[in-house]
Amino acid sequence: MSPHFFPGRHFLQIPGPTNVPEQVLRAMAEPTIDHRGPGFAKMVLEVQESLKKIFKTSEPVIIFPSSGTGAWEAALVNTLSPGDRVLMFETGQFATLWRKVAERLGLVVDFVPGDWRRGADPETVKSRLAADRAGAIKAVAVVHNETSTGVTSRVGDIRQAMNHAGHGALLLADTISSLGSMDFRHEEWGVDVTIGCSQKGLMLPPGLGFNAVSRKALDAAGSNRLPRSYWSWDEMLKANKDGLFPYTPATNLLFGLKKALGLLLEEGLDNVFARHGRHAEATRRAVLAWDLELQCQDKREYSASLTAVRMPEGHNADALRKIILERLNMSLGNGLGKVAGKVFRIGHLGDFNDLMLMGTLCGVEMGLKIASVPHKSGGVQAAMEYLSGC
Ligand SMILES: *Cc1c(COP(=O)(O)O)cnc(C)c1O
Repeated sequence: MSPHFFPGRHFLQIPGPTNVPEQVLRAMAEPTIDHRGPGFAKMVLEVQESLKKIFKTSEPVIIFPSSGTGAWEAALVNTLSPGDRVLMFETGQFATLWRKVAERLGLVVDFVPGDWRRGADPETVKSRLAADRAGAIKAVAVVHNETSTGVTSRVGDIRQAMNHAGHGALLLADTISSLGSMDFRHEEWGVDVTIGCSQKGLMLPPGLGFNAVSRKALDAAGSNRLPRSYWSWDEMLKANKDGLFPYTPATNLLFGLKKALGLLLEEGLDNVFARHGRHAEATRRAVLAWDLELQCQDKREYSASLTAVRMPEGHNADALRKIILERLNMSLGNGLGKVAGKVFRIGHLGDFNDLMLMGTLCGVEMGLKIASVPHKSGGVQAAMEYLSGC
């Protein structure tokens, strides 16, 4: 088969960027309009209301023209001061990268080591904060869904642990690969800054970053001392009140965002979460039937948006991914950082349905066979039985 031409559809099964629905692509193909005109402002005010429903908050959600990394930086520079301590957890590659951002900004990170197979432990949060009698830790920063491992952290339980410790630190949560795919409750869980971006569960191309903020985070922003300009919340919030931005927003991505949020809310968030949970369960059943191992080791922490699968000893995940791409025209996620070559990741989030999942799992099972990776057949069958039965 020619590597240059593939008839039929490419399977984009990395855990973001994800498949963009046609309705969203069409919305973004509309002519660009005046971002200071009345039509645009009206749309922005509507989008802001829909975004609040997705984050489950009544407080503002700020939209940056940025990647997720920019939204990470925004969360830190608006709330903290040079030399402040931040408690972070080594859950995987994204937590490791966020830590680097914090350190480059002059923050001091207490990085709790981890084995990349578990989420941040609420008990550890509690004991670390209880031991910090001087209140030196100003923020706890956790990745809700570690996209490098397919492991979630229980953010609601972490907030409880913070409350039990009676500590005043801010809670920052990265929901980049969980927002719009898995239940997340910014306000109810008492999160101070929730970080999101466009290209994962929100079914858009890359280019938008989000900060949902609490009253307490806004108060912190009033007195913190890290320098900021582009990321400054105050200019944004002032302009956003009237549906405007302090600099040129990503106009056409916002057209797409309006459509994508409309699709999620029309389906109903609970239905969206149930769909993701069901596809994740079917995927895990396939993996276990193949006699392969899941990267995630705690059932309570399974991700609904992606599954990371460990390769048998002596077999490289990237060699398998290469065969699957070249023979079957499907992209799977690679192993990042410490698990490079050791895991591959199946993205099952965003605009996705049963048959797309079955095609994906079929591609993995065929790839395992073609690449002569030791496994049992029957994963596709196990997933099909599960999906047909519920
Ligand atoms: C993708 C991702 C990021 C990084 O987002 P970029 O848009 O690549 O900057 C951060 N955190 C998590 C959990 C992610 O999945």
